This record gives sequence, C-alpha cells and structure tokens, in this order.
Amino acid sequence: MAAGMHRVPPGDYAGTSPHWLREPVDVDALVPVLWSSTARKDDDGVLHVGGLAIPDLVADVNTPAYVLDEDDFRSRARAFRDGFAGYDVYYAGKAFLCTAVARWVAEEGLCLDVCSDGELTVALRAGTDPARIGYHGNNKTAMELRRAVDAGVGRIIVDSFHEIERVADVARQLGVRQSVMVRVTAGVEAHTHEFIATAHEDQKFGFSISSGDAFEAASRVVAHDSLELRGLHSHIGSQIFDTSGWEVAARRVLALHARIGAELGTVLPELDLGGGFGIAYTTQDDPADPALLAEQITKIVTGECAALGLDVPHLSIEPGRAIVGPAMCTVYTVGTVKQVALDGGATRTYVSVDGGMSDNIRPALYDADYSCTLASRASSTEPVLARVVGKHCESGDIVVKDEFLPGDIAPGDLVAVPGTGAYGRSMASNYNHALRPPVVAVKDGAARVVVRRETVDDLLATDIG
Ligand SMILES: *Cc1c(COP(=O)(O)O)cnc(C)c1O
Repeated sequence: MAAGMHRVPPGDYAGTSPHWLREPVDVDALVPVLWSSTARKDDDGVLHVGGLAIPDLVADVNTPAYVLDEDDFRSRARAFRDGFAGYDVYYAGKAFLCTAVARWVAEEGLCLDVCSDGELTVALRAGTDPARIGYHGNNKTAMELRRAVDAGVGRIIVDSFHEIERVADVARQLGVRQSVMVRVTAGVEAHTHEFIATAHEDQKFGFSISSGDAFEAASRVVAHDSLELRGLHSHIGSQIFDTSGWEVAARRVLALHARIGAELGTVLPELDLGGGFGIAYTTQDDPADPALLAEQITKIVTGECAALGLDVPHLSIEPGRAIVGPAMCTVYTVGTVKQVALDGGATRTYVSVDGGMSDNIRPALYDADYSCTLASRASSTEPVLARVVGKHCESGDIVVKDEFLPGDIAPGDLVAVPGTGAYGRSMASNYNHALRPPVVAVKDGAARVVVRRETVDDLLATDIG
C-alpha cells in the first residue's frame, strides 16, 4: 500500500470498522494489488477490465457476472511456471475450472489437478494430456478410479488404505501400472500469517507421518505390481504468505522420503508440496512473488536433502487461488441502500446487491474479507463505511463486510468485487433457486462468455415434478 493513500478513519467509525481498514483519500482509486493487471478506472470513474468498460459489458451479459481477465490469468500461470522453473506446476482445478481455463492452463505449460469425475470430464474435454493430470480426493469411487486409470491419468494421489487396494485392483484389471503418490499429513497447518507445527492430524485427508500410517501406505503401494510409487504429497493449508510452514513440513516429509528409500529400497523420484499460495483480498494481505517463493522453497528442500544425503527429487506444486483468484472480479448491481445506526452514533450503510452467498460463499463459510469499488461512475461525495450484502434469506449473506464506498451510492450503481476467481464460481450454489452467474472472459477489448448464465430451464431440468 502506497504511503498516503489512506488516512486514519475519523472518530465516528472507531470500533465499527476493522483495525486494518482505512478511509481512502480517493474512494474512486483502485488498489492495484487487489485487481487483475488490466483493471483500471477512466476519468469518469468507470472500471475497465481487459480493455472493456464494465457498464458496456454488463449491458450485454447483465449482473451478477464474473469477469475473467485472460491476460492476467495467463501471466500468473506463467509467473508460477517460470518462477518454479524445473518444477511441475499443477493448476488446482477446484479453484475454478471450465473448458477455456483448462486450455489456457495447458497452453501456458502447466499440469492440472482434478478431484472429481466432473473436473476430469472438463479437463479431458478441453484436450488436456491425461499424462499431465493429477487426481485428488479422499473418497474416489471405484467408477471414478476406473475412468481415471483408463484415461491414462498421470498420477493418482492416494488417500486411504482402502483406496490403495481399489486403485491396485482397477489397474490390474485394465492391465496397466498406475503411478500414484501418497498423500501424507505432516502435522503442519498453515493459514495466512501463522502455521501450527503441532497441528492435530484429526482431519480427513492424508496418512499421518507421526503415527506410521504414511510409511505403511508407502509399503503397501510398493507391494503392488500394478502400482508405481512416484512419491509423497503434502498440502499444508491455504492463503499462506510465507514459507515457514513449508519448511517444517518439508523436513518431516523428506525424513519419511529418506526412510522409504532406506527401508523399502525405493528411491522416490518425486515430491509434491501442494498449494496454498496466498493472494491479496484486502489491504491486509501482502502476497509474495512466485519467483521469491520458489527460491525459498527450493533452498529449504535442497538444504534438507543435503542434510539427509538424498538426491533432490523432482518437485511439484499445486497453486489454485494464486493463479485464478486475482484474475476475476464479480460485478453486481446495487438494488437498495439502507442506513443502520450503530452503537456509539456511527452508521453503517448496507448496500444490497443482486447476488451474494450463492455466487461467493467464502464470507459466510470462512469469514473471508473482500473489498469493492463503485464501477460505473465517479463520485465526489465523502466516503461512508459500507457493508455490501446479498439478496439471500440469510443474515450471514455478506459480500463485503467492511469497505468505504461513496456516500451517494445508490440503486442502479455497479459495484465490482476483486479477487473472486478462486472458490467463487466453483463453490457457487443455487440457494434460493438463484441462477449461477456467467463467467465472461475479457481480453484486448473483446468479451467471450466461457460459462453462460444459468436459466430457469436449467433449474427446472432436474425438478421432474
Ligand atoms: C485446495 C488444494 C490445492 C490448491 O490450494 P490453493 O489454496 O487454491 O492454492 C492444492 N492441492 C491440494 C491437495 C488441495 O487440496
């Protein structure tokens, strides 16, 4: 955040806005780190993304709409590919996947992670080389596994003893030797600025290293002729900003990697360190450059391998959010504005928009913070402390908990929320029979709907009366 861009909130907001939120000097200005790289405002305060004015775009596709900045997505994908040169970079499709995005991922030289038959279907439809697909999940069905093995998926990340037998059976029946990785839990849980090195392994994912289950899982994989153990897989959390959690996890995972080499005689060729790279949702967040993260993570792994006398395995990572998150914003139309008196004499301006928890569940699910801006005009009115809320029958239906918006915010205005690309559309629901919004890709002044808006016919198609 550039010094001087924000001033301290005036007294009457003290205690009613979070400590990190500052009343902006210019409420019309974009905070660049929150937005995709082509986002800008013109002299009339109109937001442009991908060379298109948002009000013009909305005139065609209506609101709410997710606007996906193709150049930004591709450049973030390339930043991981080039920053983590020598690694395999798997884009985590669960963050957001559609046919167009799967194609961009392949074109930019990334591999792709899927975790369901639906995601695999989209990937294959997009023409993704199956050898470059990783398959996750703690309860893949026999049908899903058969389809994945049959398609030639490059690696299946096994997550339970049951699954090891299931994959081995399927591979044997299909007459192939399937590459697998063993998902382990290292007792490290990382989120934002903290990590817990003694985290309970009381969770559904992975085999615990400390209990010995992870070694046992590796032993069982090695015992199957139809399976090839490629390596260990560890994913420690999400929205992580520094590498200290990876350091502890890498040490524990590499110790197991060494033990497998020594006791099973299997030198594992690969190691996957998972995803979880953080992005800026608000001015609280300060994400690191992928190249810097790569340098630090590589140093951690090579140092630990040297200490253990190991050859450095081929490394892979799985960023999702950090590639697609900032590449999308959501555009809403304001429907109503309401002043609500707060204790202490301040007021909060409740701005209701035409979407909400059905298109972004993260504020309700994770108490996630977002920011927003007036996207359709400039304003010279003093900013007010606003809460942007959705239209659903749920008081937790919040879009942006705290943000300063121009005091004359009014019905018909467009509001854009940056950073909604990850876990927005992909976790969207039909709550209240909402029709899920379209994803509109923009680039060089042209818009292309890559996921269309749902229709009432889509809703009724499954309701057979
Ligand atoms: C969710 C997940 C990812 C991606 O996480 P991001 O926070 O989006 O980077 C990667 N790997 C695994 C195993 C995951 O579960």
